[in-house]
Amino acid sequence: MRFFFICLTTMLCSFSVLSSEKNLSVKGDLSQGGLVVGKSPIGTKIKLNDKNILVSPKGQFFLGFTHTAKPNQVLKATFPSGKTAEYMLNIKQRDYHTQYIEGLSKRKVLPTPFDLKRIKKENIALRKAFARLSKTRLMKDIKFSWPTEGTITGSYGTSRVLNGVPKKAHLAVDIANPVGTIVHAAASGKILFVHEGMFFNGKTVIIDHGLNLASVYIHLDNITVKLGDLVNKGDDIGAIGRTGRTTGPHLHWELRLGRIKLDPKLAVESMSRIFFEP
Ligand SMILES: [Zn+2]
Repeated sequence: MRFFFICLTTMLCSFSVLSSEKNLSVKGDLSQGGLVVGKSPIGTKIKLNDKNILVSPKGQFFLGFTHTAKPNQVLKATFPSGKTAEYMLNIKQRDYHTQYIEGLSKRKVLPTPFDLKRIKKENIALRKAFARLSKTRLMKDIKFSWPTEGTITGSYGTSRVLNGVPKKAHLAVDIANPVGTIVHAAASGKILFVHEGMFFNGKTVIIDHGLNLASVYIHLDNITVKLGDLVNKGDDIGAIGRTGRTTGPHLHWELRLGRIKLDPKLAVESMSRIFFEP
């Protein structure tokens, strides 16, 4: 199988197949934390490193790379004719900083047994919500835009030390602005989850964008949507707050493909070039 590979920049890449199956295309960000969108002939099966990838009835699919994704990954396509093609994806490796944050309430860093029970219950609710993500539907407009204005005070991939205690990497973007600053849907979708007060996250909204892709909005001051609402990109969904574990008002914005947490900033930059026909 012949194919060619073009890197438009070091971060934005695309490739196409030179063969009888000319319709496979993949665009996006081949970086740790990057999101990639693909289109294949209807009926094509896609695997990434031997793991099945969800493909819509129209042949659309997403690939997502963790913040520690290895540099070499293999994409395999099995076309309806039975022919197969393999592509080596070179995933850009990134350096992450360490961020030291002080002044958090002790209980928010080292929860009590009572708090841990509550956290466990909330995590189960979150897992159930993510299990409900649409497996087939792709929203009409899948371009992402910034959900609010402000100063980026937390980047994706940063190692965090809270009150001197090392914690997991921060796999989101933090955007700080005063309480009450409007938060918008970053892309169209359906409201998958609304919570009025989680231990760590505070007031939380999750939007389902289809094909296992979701955006998550955390620490909100108020929420103006309800479960099941359909939203367009730019619709108000709430306002920046300081609910949950936070030292000041900001939006903690996550982007997830199934269990993989992606870098929302990369998605805004690369997805803005991509549009799937409905
Ligand atoms: Zn954050």
